[in-house]
Amino acid sequence: MMMRKYQPKGRPGQQHRSGNFSHGQKADKLDEIINNATGIGANQTNGLSTSRYTQSRQNLRIIPMGGVEEVGENMTALEFGDDLLIIDMGLAFPDETMPGIDYIIPDTKWLEENKRRIRGVIITHGHLDHIGAIPYILPKLGDPPVYTMALTAAFVKKRLEEFGLIGRSKINVLTKDDVLSLGNFKIRFFRTNHSIPDGMGLCITTPVGQIVYATDWKFDHTPVDGKPTEFDKIAKFGAEGVLLLMSDSTNATKPGYCISERELGITIDRTFAEIKGRIIFANFSTSITRIQQVFDAAAKYNRKVIVTGRSMVNNIEIALSLGYLKIQPKIIIKSEQAKKFPDNQVLILTTGAQGEDAAGLARIARGDHKTVKIKKGDTTIVSASPIPGNERAISVMLSNLTRLGSHVIYNKTLDIHTSGHAQQEELKLMIALVKPKYFMPIHGEHHMIVAHAELAKTMGIPESQIFTLDNGQILEINTAREAKIVVDPKIVTGYVFIDGLGIGDVGEVVIRDRQVMAQDGMFVIIMTLDRRTGKLINQPDIISRGFIYMKGNDDLIREVKHEVRKLVESKGKEKLEPNWAYLRNVIRDEVGEYLYQKTERRPMILPVVIEI
Ligand SMILES: [Zn+2]
Repeated sequence: MMMRKYQPKGRPGQQHRSGNFSHGQKADKLDEIINNATGIGANQTNGLSTSRYTQSRQNLRIIPMGGVEEVGENMTALEFGDDLLIIDMGLAFPDETMPGIDYIIPDTKWLEENKRRIRGVIITHGHLDHIGAIPYILPKLGDPPVYTMALTAAFVKKRLEEFGLIGRSKINVLTKDDVLSLGNFKIRFFRTNHSIPDGMGLCITTPVGQIVYATDWKFDHTPVDGKPTEFDKIAKFGAEGVLLLMSDSTNATKPGYCISERELGITIDRTFAEIKGRIIFANFSTSITRIQQVFDAAAKYNRKVIVTGRSMVNNIEIALSLGYLKIQPKIIIKSEQAKKFPDNQVLILTTGAQGEDAAGLARIARGDHKTVKIKKGDTTIVSASPIPGNERAISVMLSNLTRLGSHVIYNKTLDIHTSGHAQQEELKLMIALVKPKYFMPIHGEHHMIVAHAELAKTMGIPESQIFTLDNGQILEINTAREAKIVVDPKIVTGYVFIDGLGIGDVGEVVIRDRQVMAQDGMFVIIMTLDRRTGKLINQPDIISRGFIYMKGNDDLIREVKHEVRKLVESKGKEKLEPNWAYLRNVIRDEVGEYLYQKTERRPMILPVVIEI
């Protein structure tokens, strides 16, 4: 898996990412006060062009709902005639500019309005950036049927079960040679290698031509499970004629080939051979092939394995029950049994290689894990490359571990991780096999998408036949097989923020408020005014939090109060009728400017009017 943290877009010319967020918050009294105070209106319109656009149902429309402006929240919709097909429903992780947000998922309002036309949802593989949003989105789309391979189906069911949604959508298990017919779409599959078993690519036959959809794949000639990517099928689709190839851009900037997972197995083996004490091995819980190699090396060096972390326990159980993981009997022990074994016969397998706060390794590193306590002589192996944005959290975690006495090995000191995503030479081979007329790079941030487009150009695909889209834009192909990018004002995509139990009730306004408060604190001005005269009845009250300490700043506070009094007196006279909203705006702007001059800080200013 390579789930990069969500990156704010900040497209040139687009101010503060306006336009691509969903707005779901209720405008209650407090919101109103805060909106007035911050000068941010809740009704921002989307920035897409609203030029007149009429759609012909006889055109094929391909709509990335997410995943082409970030690594994460992958979701694509295909439309022809009355039929809609959805591929993947992923989530993305927030970055540090989104305080309090747990996940980000695509905005699916348009799909909700068209849910009766959805023929099915195909899931390519079991990583969270492809299945994570399923429990949030599937019920809103009327629980359409899901189609996927066995291991992915088990992960999807587990996730639905955790949300109490099991039994609503039918989860159909496919095999790689099945042919699926959903309305105007006929779908065939090919197995791909990735860092999780059961990854698959799609060949979708539509009334205007064939699409090859290849996300999260690499060419591994010696995969650990002995099941390489099905080159023969890809070449066969290419020979039949492919109108459009959509392909993974995650590693489009990296030259050469990915190293095989098997190479990694050799590194793991060599590393284990030299370790004398306990081993703590942290890894993505979905990287079943990596986990297989850890079990193999553990068995070879006579180590028992303690599995900790809920997702690690669940996923290992699922993979074992379906035969995707093969381990020695009795190699897994409970943590209480560890005392019976010397340190050089114990391995602890856990989650949290990205430094995630709540995951196993971070808790072990903080010393508050229930059963695992670090001691001198331990070796911790972190098997993942840091997702950009996580470096700091990982670094802190590693230092905590070394303070507790553990030796630490991670990708910078030893290549203990390989990517699951094709690099340049593999990407070129895919294009060569598929020989598409049109090319659309997917799965990546904008610069990765562009790098992939450049590669396609060097392979001889004319620039006019390469399409780089933003989320929510549409690649439309008509029956004459002419393709162009169009924008349909009805399709508004963007980000829905998940905060605790709230889905989409936190919008851009709330995020921006959190950013302002986190940076410079807040400053509340309470004014008690006479309803009829608009005059201040007594001194304004000031509350400051996270901005300045009130004690010791008496002068500044006194000056602000003076300023407020002056403003109320002068502005009150300008209007015949007392206009509190206007007054609040003036106070916010003027006091904001005043505080900035004095402190060079911009706290959130909340003017509150109480009328008597
Ligand atoms: Zn993946």
